[in-house]
Amino acid sequence: MFSPPTVDSINSLLPSEPLLMMGAGPVPIPHSVAQANSIVINHLGGTMAKIIHQMKEMARYVFQTESRWILGVAGPGSAAMEMSVCNLVFPGTRVLSVCNGYFGRRFAEMATRVGGQVECLNVPDGEAAQVAAVREHLERFRPEVLTIAQGETSSTVFNIHLPQITRLAREYGCYVIVDAVCTLSTMPCEMDNWKIDAVVTGGQKGLSSIPGVSLIAFSERAWERINARPVQPPHWCLDAKLAEQFWHNASYHYTAPVSGILALHEALHLICQETLEQRFARHLRCSLGLQRGVEAMGLRLYGQPESRLNSVVGIVVPEGINRAEICEQISLKYRVEISGSFGLNIVRIGQMGEQCRAHHLFRTLHALGSTMKDLGADVDVAAGVAALERQLQGAL
Ligand SMILES: *Cc1c(COP(=O)(O)O)cnc(C)c1O
Repeated sequence: MFSPPTVDSINSLLPSEPLLMMGAGPVPIPHSVAQANSIVINHLGGTMAKIIHQMKEMARYVFQTESRWILGVAGPGSAAMEMSVCNLVFPGTRVLSVCNGYFGRRFAEMATRVGGQVECLNVPDGEAAQVAAVREHLERFRPEVLTIAQGETSSTVFNIHLPQITRLAREYGCYVIVDAVCTLSTMPCEMDNWKIDAVVTGGQKGLSSIPGVSLIAFSERAWERINARPVQPPHWCLDAKLAEQFWHNASYHYTAPVSGILALHEALHLICQETLEQRFARHLRCSLGLQRGVEAMGLRLYGQPESRLNSVVGIVVPEGINRAEICEQISLKYRVEISGSFGLNIVRIGQMGEQCRAHHLFRTLHALGSTMKDLGADVDVAAGVAALERQLQGAL
């Protein structure tokens, strides 16, 4: 027999005052979502069947689709990405991956691993993918599947031409997979209208639920491809036809993450109550407020203005200041968490779901400015806060 290890209780490990989660995810969750997440029920049976039925109805609204093929997955946003890839990409399938950063490349990596013949369209740093470049690749490479992130969280780039790109790809008969992990429900993403074949999202970003339970929507056309697939996907857990058992036939695939599903039901319910129109307006108002505040302080936003992502705001680290130190100081002294980045010299502040509340913005902007000042940057905190106030007021 081994002896039990000596560890602390979870309560003594957590910070005494919770941190305000203003990074690139996970984001704060509403109280009712946290409450739903504290319940365990049977993963099968009448109650769960009703919950799943409603979740699909709400998800159709959030994805803006009439497709029946909504599925969930016990896993991170990446699992939903992998589920879309491994059910639509087969050995030898030509895949065009639009890459604006880390997550665009993750799609390419996943497609390569299932045997896809992958070509990357590498977009210059800080820019959105251009329709002409996509057209050139479609024309020459004739991909059967195209992958793209609507919002590239890693580089804070917004693929503003997404609707033109997805419609163009459809003209070429290409199946389009869109990563909307950080954008879904924060800005328009119209699956049917834009001719998208699979939209993937995670729980802990735009939807403001917990991490670990994700959603995916396939078009009818994608579902036909899945039904006619020449090989079974290599990942048993991510097999869409097996997931159909739970998500459409009220039967067993694997034990569903019941608490996380209840949390996600509540998060979707809150979105439906708010309505997408109101929610988009709130996100835009708050993100622009933050951006104007950052600039008025004397800091610089990352990237070209037209391709700046509102859901995750990238701020250029001033010369002579260490990125990691900013994130550490703002957390220690002001109890606000923000994100660094993979490679670029920026820090990132999220504007997803519950992050888009005026009181969080004021606290975060003040904390950012004060931290920069503490570290020796020349910033005008008061001017920034005033600009945020003006932008929020003006937008009313
Ligand atoms: C966070 C994120 C992911 C990955 O989600 P995980 O839950 O971390 O797996 C994928 N794509 C985008 C755009 C993201 O922001």
